[in-house]
Amino acid sequence: MAAEEVVRRFASDAERGLSAEAAALRLAEHGANEIEAEAGKSAWRIWWAQLSATMVVVLLVAGLISLALRDFKDAAAIFAIVALNALFGFAQEYRAEKAMAALRRLAAPSVRVRRGGHVVEMAARDLVPGDLLVLEAGNFVGADCRLLEAATLRIDEAALTGESAPVEKASAPLASEAVPLAERINMAWLGTMVTSGRGCAVVTETGMRTELGRIAGMLERVGQEQTPLQRRLDELGRSLALVALVLVAVIFVLGLMRGEDPTLMFLTGVSMAVAAIPEGLPAVVTIALALGAQRMLKRRALIRNLPAAETLGSVTAICSDKTGTLTENRMTVTALYTGCENMRIGREWDDAVLAGQRPEFTLLLAAAALCNDAQIEGAGEERHALGDPTEAALAIAASRAGLRKPELETALPRVAELPFESARKRMTSVHRTAQCGETLPPGLRRLWPAEWHRHPFLAFTKGALESVLQVCAQQWRDGAAEVLTTAERQRIIAAGDDFAQAGQRVLGIAFRPLATTNNPADFERDLIFLGMAAISDPPRAEVRTAVEMCQAAGIRALMITGDHPLTARHVAHELGIGGRVLTGGEIEAMSPEELHALVEKVSIYARVLPEHKFRIVEALQNRGHIVSMTGDGVNDAPALKRANIGVAMGITGTDVSKQASDMVLLDDNFTTIVAAVEEGRAIYDNIRKFIRYVLAGNVGEILVMLLGPFFGMPLPLLPLQILWINLATDGLNGLALSVEPPERDAMRRPPYPPGEGILGRGIGAHILRVGAIVGLVPLAIGLLWWRRHDPAWQTMVFATLTFTQVFQTLAVRSWRESLFSIGLWSNKTAAASVTVSGALTLAIIYVPWLQRVFGTVPLTARELLFALLFSSAVFWSIEIEKWWQRRGCRHTAA
Ligand code: ADP
Ligand code: MG
Repeated sequence: MAAEEVVRRFASDAERGLSAEAAALRLAEHGANEIEAEAGKSAWRIWWAQLSATMVVVLLVAGLISLALRDFKDAAAIFAIVALNALFGFAQEYRAEKAMAALRRLAAPSVRVRRGGHVVEMAARDLVPGDLLVLEAGNFVGADCRLLEAATLRIDEAALTGESAPVEKASAPLASEAVPLAERINMAWLGTMVTSGRGCAVVTETGMRTELGRIAGMLERVGQEQTPLQRRLDELGRSLALVALVLVAVIFVLGLMRGEDPTLMFLTGVSMAVAAIPEGLPAVVTIALALGAQRMLKRRALIRNLPAAETLGSVTAICSDKTGTLTENRMTVTALYTGCENMRIGREWDDAVLAGQRPEFTLLLAAAALCNDAQIEGAGEERHALGDPTEAALAIAASRAGLRKPELETALPRVAELPFESARKRMTSVHRTAQCGETLPPGLRRLWPAEWHRHPFLAFTKGALESVLQVCAQQWRDGAAEVLTTAERQRIIAAGDDFAQAGQRVLGIAFRPLATTNNPADFERDLIFLGMAAISDPPRAEVRTAVEMCQAAGIRALMITGDHPLTARHVAHELGIGGRVLTGGEIEAMSPEELHALVEKVSIYARVLPEHKFRIVEALQNRGHIVSMTGDGVNDAPALKRANIGVAMGITGTDVSKQASDMVLLDDNFTTIVAAVEEGRAIYDNIRKFIRYVLAGNVGEILVMLLGPFFGMPLPLLPLQILWINLATDGLNGLALSVEPPERDAMRRPPYPPGEGILGRGIGAHILRVGAIVGLVPLAIGLLWWRRHDPAWQTMVFATLTFTQVFQTLAVRSWRESLFSIGLWSNKTAAASVTVSGALTLAIIYVPWLQRVFGTVPLTARELLFALLFSSAVFWSIEIEKWWQRRGCRHTAA
């Protein structure tokens, strides 16, 4: 079908697009533009997962058996405990799922659409058939659509067809109807990416009716696969479960041999298994990751890929773009240079200065404003520009000299262009001169060289100085073109270096007359050099501190920029990134081995192309680094994918780079990467704190049950008491550890090696040491009371063990710092869970009907005090251990 025909079929308007009302109606009719496989877990699924977990099923069976034995009290208590357990699990996982759903929503792409005559940006899920989609290099195609315009438009359809080479698109009707998907070149498909050119298209299908919708489930999903840590924990959990089961079997058999009641022994065995098997390990990782990702979001880092939240903690090298990430991206033209002279632009430089006295400067600015896609809004002091900041700076400078872009563009309409590419580092626009005589702005008309409009077209080029000079043969001087001698070239380059040395970005500007626009190869050949503009972009004030923080944290900060080496070096040094500069050209000439050798020493990379970024990532990884790399352009995608953490820019980044990234910086700021690393370290720390806490507790519980009988005691704890302790420790206090805020010294120590054992760095020894205290203290007290034939002996074991683990929670919140210095309230969840578990334990001891259920007897005040006092032994021993470490006597432990 012809393009107009398609627009008519969809009752749309090729100029204005749909009206807001029509779009709303269609949205109601067609539904949201969403792929359903993307939706998260429902609350019911989470409940079901909780209730169908192996341990819960075992408990439920135990409850049913108690019921069959008419032991209603026990059955009810078991069911209550199962319900509470499931409730805690559900609450945590539901929170995690909601956090992830929020991340997914934020990570969803947006599109630009023409509606009611205006181009608006909106979420891709609101697209409806008939919408006019505006496509540009770097965009994500938000729905299936028919192209109306395609200017050198190329689209990467790998996501859909697997074809890796971009497809060249056109807007003309196809020759035949039966054409395979990959050859319908006048269509663009949901989920594909524009790699170059521009276009406009009318949406034909949305949501599940698109080609992608038909093969749904191909899109990446946040938090789907297991993270490496989860897999390792799974393995650890399985081996620990095996050990626990063997020990439980031993306890069971020993009990039977002593002549205990088989039903009691069965329930004890089940409860022990439930308590001792660390079934919560993989779940705690998901929760810690999801909640950690939520905290990162508060600090402006959006995690697109959940395992990345964990990897962030072990990052050892942060590679960052300069422009916009290390600098403010608020560019201002500070000086102009022409063949004749230099002109600084200060406060006093105003519209009048250029009015006539120096024609070269005016022509230079006119060229800069024409070869420019930025738009100016407002006037006078209110003046600000939209678009690429470099171009915006030039457009503002021109407008300060009285050269307004719309007027210039009416006089010299743009008819062709070669867009900016980082590899060429230039951009050219071609303009028709036919109308120019009369319509030129008055200020310019007087200065306009008559010779210029004798040619039908003029091409204007701007770009990196050396790249523009490369294609120049002449220079414009005193109103005429003259040959650009080698000496002149050197003079210009030296002047440019002066600017660059002061941290300025230097853009060369040139032009040439053209007889026709038929031959784009001619646009950037034999140009006439007009001059250059120096643009300043101040470094972000807060980045210096962030760079220092990286150094303290054992992380290398590297600057990677497309800018000039001198500019790069100045800005880098200003930010505290020192050393020599390596350029993309030098990288190109190197073998991979040479680069591997250098990459450890060099932190500033200039005139770098996307493919060099890829090589830098590779070289760093080869040296054992865990690399985070930023990127904003289409061509950065491979480097982002290759890096351990690909980081995209939320404000200036293209959709393509965002889709290839693990994390998006919502504020484009380097500081945000460092903040995310800090949170990443906290996540890993918290997971390890949970493991340390839970396993030490389990060791203690097993010790009590295993050793008790050897001292001649009957079973030290009843099945329900064991279940309660498990609920209070793993379910309440343990999970509270997974929301611990980052440690104060998290960024003052080197990163942990990513592959290190989970029980490494002294954790295994700590578990055994603390586990011994958790087990032996309650056992000793129980023994004391039992020897005196005191009926409270079992309750004493129960109380001491529970309180011990409460104290343990408080002590293990930090690796090194004392609870007295971090404060009880720095983790409110932990404060609350400790209070709740303590209070409920007291209730179990003192509330009559709970006494009957849990088989406890009320303790006297002296007994309670005694239990509390001895329970705190674990607290003091861990505090002493931390104090010892703080004194620096031992460096092994965390
Ligand atoms: P960065 O890594 O600093 O973002 P870029 O790849 O964007 O670097 O730019 C590299 C060089 O290309 C710049 O130093 C500048 O000389 C030139 N350049 C940047 N933007 C434009 C533009 N819009 N038009 C022409 N040249 C540009
Ligand atoms: Mg850039």
